[in-house]
Amino acid sequence: MPELPELVVMQEVLSEKIVGRTIVSATPFHPGVLKTVDPGLDALVGKHITTIARSGKHLIFTLAEDLHIVIHLMVAGRLILCRSDTKATKASAFLIAFEDGEDLRLIENTKTHRASVHIVRSPEDIEAIARMGVDPLSDVFTLAYLTNYIKRYKRQLKKLLTNQSMIAGIGTAYADEILFDAQLSPIRYGTTVTDEEAKRLHQSIRSVLQWALSEVRAGAGGATLAPHKRGFLKVYEKTETPCPECGTKIAEIRYAQTKTYYCPRCQAQGALIRDRRSWLTR
Ligand SMILES: [Zn+2]
Repeated sequence: MPELPELVVMQEVLSEKIVGRTIVSATPFHPGVLKTVDPGLDALVGKHITTIARSGKHLIFTLAEDLHIVIHLMVAGRLILCRSDTKATKASAFLIAFEDGEDLRLIENTKTHRASVHIVRSPEDIEAIARMGVDPLSDVFTLAYLTNYIKRYKRQLKKLLTNQSMIAGIGTAYADEILFDAQLSPIRYGTTVTDEEAKRLHQSIRSVLQWALSEVRAGAGGATLAPHKRGFLKVYEKTETPCPECGTKIAEIRYAQTKTYYCPRCQAQGALIRDRRSWLTR
């Protein structure tokens, strides 16, 4: 799933490519992809995209003060620009056609369709956006904010970092990278974190996201919306490969569809964390 760094780069690339373009039609293909009925698709016709913003993992295409298209790519969605005469495939979920003969298409090449499009008068009409937490790269995300937050709830750090209503845009991949960088166990409870560790965590959140952002930006080259490669990551999906810091094999914890990756030596005093069904639900 794209997270903050990928979303920022998509926002940058799309802003350069489609701001100012006029929409001639919009078509949903996958049933259920369009989550709203009013304003209708007709409301988009003849309008042009004025800005593209981001809230957490949502991209917000603004056409007018009271008209916005909000796209969430979920796990497998991606956006492409192509000529309008390119045949729409089964993977095409939603299409916005521009006056100049190109389309912006939402592609989701999976059996289960989870990507979503909302057409709204205000982005805040979408509950997840109305409740969105602070952007971890903004000035509002201070050490005090993080410390108050993690010490308030008896929850594990991985779960705290991926709670969108407190910190926007961090998903499972960058949460693992951040906790590795901060040398903290993903199953540590926020309530047990010392001031020194909270400071380290705050720094790691910023530095890992900034580092990932520059890596993703360099990989995209400003030219493409192709799926973002994350070859630069250090622990995420690196089970059994040596930790770049200490050489210990990276381990994983499974829970339902989610896996968490960590270095047993750098993050857990050398201990393997047992798979426990309950560990992510507490
Ligand atoms: Zn290590």
